[in-house]
Parts: sequence; C-alpha cells; structure tokens
Amino acid sequence: MHFSKALTRHATKLFAAMAIVVGMSAQDGPADWIVTNAKVVTLDERRPAASSFAVRNGRFVSVGSDAATAALRGPKTRTINARGRTVIPGLNDSHLHAVREGRFYNLELRWDGVTSLQQALTMLREQAARTPRGHWVRVVGGWSPYQFTERRLPTVEELNDAAPDTPVLVLFLYSRGFLNRAGVDAMNITPETKAPTGSRFELVRGGGAVLHCEPSPAILYQSVAKLPPMSTEEQASSILHWYRELNRFGLTSAVDAGGGGHAYPDDYAAGEALARQNKVNLRLSMYLFAQKADVELQDYQKWTNDVKLDVDLAPGRPHGYVYEGAGENLVAAVADFENFLADSPALSDEKLRSQLKAVTTQLVRNGWPIRIHATYDATITKVLDVFEEVFKAENFRGRWFIDHAEGISDQNLQRVKRLGGGIAIQNRMAFSGEYYVERYGKEAAGSAPPLRKMLASGVPLGAGTDATRVSSFNPWLSLYWMVSGKTVGGTELYAKDDRLTREQALRLFTVGSAWFSGDEQVKGRIAPGQLADFAILSADYFSVSEEQIKNIESVLTVLGGEVVYAAAPFQALAGPPLPSALPAWSPVAHFGGYQTAPGSKR
Ligand SMILES: [Zn+2]
Repeated sequence: MHFSKALTRHATKLFAAMAIVVGMSAQDGPADWIVTNAKVVTLDERRPAASSFAVRNGRFVSVGSDAATAALRGPKTRTINARGRTVIPGLNDSHLHAVREGRFYNLELRWDGVTSLQQALTMLREQAARTPRGHWVRVVGGWSPYQFTERRLPTVEELNDAAPDTPVLVLFLYSRGFLNRAGVDAMNITPETKAPTGSRFELVRGGGAVLHCEPSPAILYQSVAKLPPMSTEEQASSILHWYRELNRFGLTSAVDAGGGGHAYPDDYAAGEALARQNKVNLRLSMYLFAQKADVELQDYQKWTNDVKLDVDLAPGRPHGYVYEGAGENLVAAVADFENFLADSPALSDEKLRSQLKAVTTQLVRNGWPIRIHATYDATITKVLDVFEEVFKAENFRGRWFIDHAEGISDQNLQRVKRLGGGIAIQNRMAFSGEYYVERYGKEAAGSAPPLRKMLASGVPLGAGTDATRVSSFNPWLSLYWMVSGKTVGGTELYAKDDRLTREQALRLFTVGSAWFSGDEQVKGRIAPGQLADFAILSADYFSVSEEQIKNIESVLTVLGGEVVYAAAPFQALAGPPLPSALPAWSPVAHFGGYQTAPGSKR
C-alpha cells in the first residue's frame, strides 16, 4: 500500500496533531515548571482565575490550585513561587514593525518614556559627544511633545546647541522631522534641494532644517534611508537587544506589519538567520509589504509564488517565525498617512481602485491573508468597495483586516463585520491625540477609534502599538490608553463609556491579537494545551491606579517554557546576559531603550 504525496503529508500532520494532544495530558509525566502562589489571570472563560499552573514541553498542562499542580511535581520539576504576583498570558502586539526596528535599534536614541524635553536634550548632548565622526544621533519617533513637562517640540536651535558638530535627525512620528546644522551639512541640503512631493524643507536661520510632511512622510523615509547602516555583527547585536527589550515588558508575540523602507527579502535576512538559530525570543508572524509605488503587483506575484506561508522557520519553536500574508501597505495609492498636523491626503480614486483590485485579486487567489493600513473613514470606504467586489468574485473566505481605523464610521464597522474582517487598533492617538483634537475637534477625537463600538460589534479585534516610529513599543502605554482614554500627555480623549475595562484591554492584547496570525486557538490564554507564554508583572495590573499602568513591567517573561527575561526578584532565573550592545557607542549600551521614570517601578 502506498500513500499519495498529499495524503502522506496529511497523515504526518494528523499524527503531529495527535502527539500534541497526547503530550497535553496531565498524566503524562512530571512538569518542567510549576508556578505557585500566583494571581493568575488566565483569560480562559472556563477558569478565569487560578493560583498555579504547570508547564511541560513548552505548553501549559495544568492550571488550578497549588495543591492540584503539586501532583505534577517530579524530581526535576522547577518551582517558581510568584509571591502573590499577578501573572498574565504573554502580550501580543498585533501591529508592530518589529523586524524593521531590529535593523536600527542599537543606533537609535529612544526618547520613549522620557518625561522632560530638558532630559531628552541632555541625553542627546551626551550621545553626540560619544558618537564617532561619520555617524549620527538619531531619535526616530516613539515620543510625543506632550509627554514632556514642557509640552512642546524641540527647536532646531536646541539641537544645534546640544550637538554642535555631530549630525542629528529627530523624527516626531511621521509628522515632522528636525535636522541640526551638522545634519543639513552632512546631507548637503541647500535652498535648491528639492523635497519629495507632498513635503518640504524649511531651512532655519543659524543652520539646520525642519522637515515638513504635508502630508507625505516621504521626506522622513528618505532622510532615514540616507543614514549609515550597521555592520552584520552590529545588526545581530541590535536584533537581540531589541527583542530583549520587548520581553522586558512581557511581550512574547508580535504580528509584524512590514514597513516603509523595509524590503523583502534583503532586509529580513539578518533576523531570519537568527530565528533559524532559535535566537529570536518572540513569536513573529510577518506580513510582507511591497516598496515601489505603482509596481507593487510585481512583488506580490513573485512572493505568492516563492514565499511559503505558515512554515515555522525557527526550529523547535511552534509559530516562532512565520510568513503570514501581505500588508499593511498593499499599494502606495491607498496609503493615507496619519499626519494630524496636516489635512488628510487626497488619494487618486482611479489608481487606488485599479491597483488595489489587481493586488487583492492576486493575493486572495493564492489564499494569502491580507492586512491594510487605513486611517480615515473615506479611505476605509474605498478599500471596502474594492475588497467587497474581489472577495465576492473570488469567493474569498480567508483572514483579512484593517489596521488603525481611527476614523471608522458605524456603517463601515458593520461592513467589515459582514465581510468577515478584523480590525487591529493601536495607541497612535496617545501620541498625536492633541493634534487630532486641534484639527478635527474634541467630539471627533472622542470616537477615534470607537473602542467600545468596535468591541460590541463582535468583529475580531487586536491591540498593539504601531511602534516604533508613530508610537512607543511599550505595550503598557497602549493598555493605559485603552483603559484611561488618555494620551501619554494626560489629555482625555474618550468619555468613560467609550473606554475599555482592564480585562477587555488585556484580552485584546493577548488572545485578541492572536486571531491576526490565525493563532487564537493556541496562544493568548493560560490554559492546558496553550503555548506556555506568560509574564509575571512588577505590579498588579488590576489594582494599581490607572496612572501606574504605564509603569508596569515584567519581572519574569517566559516564552514556550523558556525564560527570556528576568528581573528582581527572579533574576536568578535569567539566562546568560546579552553581550553589551554594539557598536560600543550605541545609545542602547548607555541608556537602554524605554526610559522608566526613576522610582516608579514596583
Ligand atoms: Zn499603518
């Protein structure tokens, strides 16, 4: 008897699935780890709370009381006494430019979490002094002027003062950029230099320039692209430090959204090499994003042919490093950049329709999941017009979703639901809400996005940050935003009835986000059979004051039963420390990443 190739493959899959079911059985030998004395938030409806759980072979095998899991203790089982701390499923950012940031992290001075402009400029001054000739100080987004006590943007004069000889580029979201005098010189910008369409240089008296995006951020992408890249060795260091920093906040998964200036396959190579060595301590599901305007279809034709979806590239780490689909940008003609300092961009209807239709058809015919960036309701309408037509013609039943959707109307929310789509939301408004209010008014801002309505609609919803440029990567700022309705500057955007409960917000940031990579059955809960991704928190998310949510960190992050981050009181469980960040002058080596306010921890 012989099986056909397809049948054999089917049978192998079936046996693998059976093995997992057998492996899940609590009777099947002792646990690798048991966590006791914990306040476990399981997000499992059948058992919402527990004090203990056991882990074996990278999965939860038992969840319940300390007495119940004690039965799984063997001679080699390690026990973690959580000392009454809160434990949550590992966080999952459903819209993070994770892979792209690996290429830059070690060279960036992060202002994320810095509470005063004075402090931000002091850091810049220190960093400029240690930056060797030929290199830059770069602050590439992730901060808002309203997080500073001064509540304002830096001036070019201040950058010149802090860095008289070292070139500096400071990006404020995708809304504005600043170059100091040395930066303008290094880029040879003169009054004759032409800026890309939709943007302009404003040369400043005394040297330096403001980069205006009205409304296209092309000038910012172009400037970032001109900066010197890292060596191969530095890049590997950067990737490892970057994922470690995410683990520090309890993040164990991300659904990567591609990124401008981030081209497949070249810009993915360093990360993929590390993933194949099991060194990427995050489960990453990646959507690919074509870079060249007007010829996007060519890339998608090639990729739907060459790229294998749903293949684990990280050996021994289920759902570890997986190509997932296409987006968040499908064609440049649909990109409605969220620069709330300017009017919304005018999109060419004809181009948008024909290009988006061709690309969508190509993708859905090949069964590729799709995600698409859309900020304003007018854009969402145009996208849905095309999707509705193509999905119907192609009888598409696959996964698709809108990213951002701050401006979505009730009508389009219902349309997304009818078409079987999801929505991935992020706390971009926490960083630009003040500008949104200024331009569109408080009432419009109050439902941008309509959090409660989205939840009530029953549409699959995931939460994230859209880091690292238009917001910080710290997931707790996003949870804070959903719960408090406030920007990082404390401006109240949403009425009480339009905010989420802490549990709702946490659900979106775990099992909610898992839907966006088709993993909602395997992760996001602390329940038997689920992947053992969890975080012990520095403070109780459910009882600290709203303001304190911003200061929560993980003190123990576990990915598939493996410790990927540990801090006091669990530092003894940490693996070997990472070698110091490269290059030696890296801002990360001196400041780290996110700046937690001193004394705010625990
Ligand atoms: Zn986007």
